[in-house]
Amino acid sequence: MNRRKFIEKTSAAGLLGLIGSHLKLDAAPAFNPGKKALPVIISTWSHGIPANKEAMKVLNSGGNVLDAAEKGVMVVEADPGNHSVGIGGLPDRDGYVTLDASIIGPDGNAGSVCFLQNIVHPVSVARLVMEKTPHVILAGEGALQFAVESGFKEQNLLTPEAEKFWKEWLKKSDYDPVINWENEPNKYHDTIGLLAVDKDGDIAGACTTSGLAFKMHGRVGDSPIIGAGLYVDNDVGGATATGMGELVLKTLGSFLVVELMRNGRSPQQACEEAVMRIVKKDPESKKRQVGYIAVNKNGETGAFSLQPGFNYAVYQDGENRMIDSKSHY
Ligand code: ASP
Repeated sequence: MNRRKFIEKTSAAGLLGLIGSHLKLDAAPAFNPGKKALPVIISTWSHGIPANKEAMKVLNSGGNVLDAAEKGVMVVEADPGNHSVGIGGLPDRDGYVTLDASIIGPDGNAGSVCFLQNIVHPVSVARLVMEKTPHVILAGEGALQFAVESGFKEQNLLTPEAEKFWKEWLKKSDYDPVINWENEPNKYHDTIGLLAVDKDGDIAGACTTSGLAFKMHGRVGDSPIIGAGLYVDNDVGGATATGMGELVLKTLGSFLVVELMRNGRSPQQACEEAVMRIVKKDPESKKRQVGYIAVNKNGETGAFSLQPGFNYAVYQDGENRMIDSKSHY
């Protein structure tokens, strides 16, 4: 039950049609996260399966690792049935869908947007911030203006379904983020963070989210903050986070994971140590979720979370599969 796993062979029929509906989960043979094999794509939650698939398709067709990371998460941003990323994301308490996203390439260049509204693909705006401006982060109105000037179309992101959830929430207006959205049948998952390592060991990452549902208007989470929700150092590896962004921000979690790997920890050990840093520093950790995933330059992967229920997708050696993360509590 809790150890449901899903395998997709490279030859299996496309999963794109399943995004936003219930994924069928089958038993899978044990996965060895310590395995070193390139290329590899790793991403958070079960929406990672279609994202990984797209990212691997980019690599297999000769695309670069940065394109792979961007195109992978764009699949999830475009899915209106997913209520935590891109269009269809749950709004803040005032009814606005505000998006955060970041991207980092193997050259160490990074870009991000936060508090961005009305644009379906914030990750692509983040990439343009990285490539076309002298800055790293653009926020709110300025980010929107830049996006529109760059040719992105404005669109209402609040779908009727998401609006319905918001109106239900308004009846009590009780702000208490739920551990593991994936256990909430109608809400369907958290942030997508995706790390891609190509056959030469070059690494890129992307992270995109509508943030915590019913957050205060103006709230920015960990996902667009370089080093918090996402970090890549092409000499070492990459890490990305999901869950309660405030806990990740206060420990600069993804940067910490990469620095631990730089100092000799495996991706698994590094994720565990970063989660334990939160446990040690923050009493909130008992009732909140945070999950990290990481990969090093050799293609070795790891993950760890505060609470049970976090899972992630790994595409390696021709298999794209879900793995249940180990957790502290
Ligand atoms: N980390 C995201 C945030 O705090 C939320 C999530 O992963 O669900 O905005």
